[in-house]
Amino acid sequence: LDNARQMPAGIAFYQQGQDESHQRELTLIHDLPLALQNGQFYVVYQPKVDIQQQHCHSAEALIRWQHPQLGFIAPDQFIALAEHAGCIGLITDWMLRQVISQAAVWWQQGLHLQIAVNLSVFDLLNPSLTDTIQQLLQQQQLPAAALALEVTESAIMHDADTVIQQLSQLRALGISLAIDDFGTGQSSLAYLKQLPVHEVKIDRAFVKDIEHNANDALIVRATTQLAHSLGFSLTAEGLEHQAGLALLQQCGCDKVQGYYFAKPLQAAQFAQWLNQFNADSRPWFNTETIA
Ligand code: C2E
Ligand code: MG
Ligand code: MG
Ligand code: MG
Repeated sequence: LDNARQMPAGIAFYQQGQDESHQRELTLIHDLPLALQNGQFYVVYQPKVDIQQQHCHSAEALIRWQHPQLGFIAPDQFIALAEHAGCIGLITDWMLRQVISQAAVWWQQGLHLQIAVNLSVFDLLNPSLTDTIQQLLQQQQLPAAALALEVTESAIMHDADTVIQQLSQLRALGISLAIDDFGTGQSSLAYLKQLPVHEVKIDRAFVKDIEHNANDALIVRATTQLAHSLGFSLTAEGLEHQAGLALLQQCGCDKVQGYYFAKPLQAAQFAQWLNQFNADSRPWFNTETIA
């Protein structure tokens, strides 16, 4: 991609075989800025369920791209690409605008949700990030507590001192902060204790088979204890089956996000799911009702 960036989009100079995937990358990067303006992107919301209270008042916002020629493109295929091409800021900006205005609508309707947006390390190295977010919150009259930001462990370790400074500013605004994909990056416990975050999200890798893997259960339990003793809440990502839920409750996890409760949904469907869930969440937690 680095070479490709010097060349006008569409010029083929790669070996056969590499050709197609590089061509696809060039197309995606080329199309991305206009696609953001032309409504090819949309936001989906995945519930984060409080498994101790058996209630849901938060969600993670995730980006989706429906390309007119290439069809559906998953974020794993274009986020890293956008970071390398230097246009991740466009995506973050677009997401923040969408999510903050949607959250403001929900708050006006009396739905006091907290919605999380994912940040890239490049966002955190951008000195105007905090001001931009503060302005957006003011414009939409949304309380800062309605917004959460997720940052991966590896993004923090990339330039920990600068990132910690930026996170402290965001925290001072009243925004909630989470470490994402915890356990998969190169974490340093020395940094972990200084991080100005509220929440640790343990990676799906430790959660998805928890009911079959005693080591995963031990890791989730120990990580939850560590998080709690440092003053962070713990969210488990990627629960797909009911069988793991009781274990996560026993481990002391605070929240769970995963296909078991819901896949990421568009705003209207998410609000509908939420109303039903909060009206009666007992079936989700009752092992006898759900097979
Ligand atoms: P993430 O932030 O860790 O988001 C969680 C991912 O796990 C999402 O994938 C979600 O759909 C998926 N997931 C949740 N529960 C389950 C489950 O039970 N089973 C399985 N198999 N998957 C589950 P998604 O939406 O494809 O996003 C992938 C990654 O792309 C995200 O990981 C995040 O790192 C990045 N991403 C997505 N949207 C954005 C965005 O707006 N900005 C940035 N910078 N990154 C984003
Ligand atoms: Mg995330
Ligand atoms: Mg994650
Ligand atoms: Mg992830």
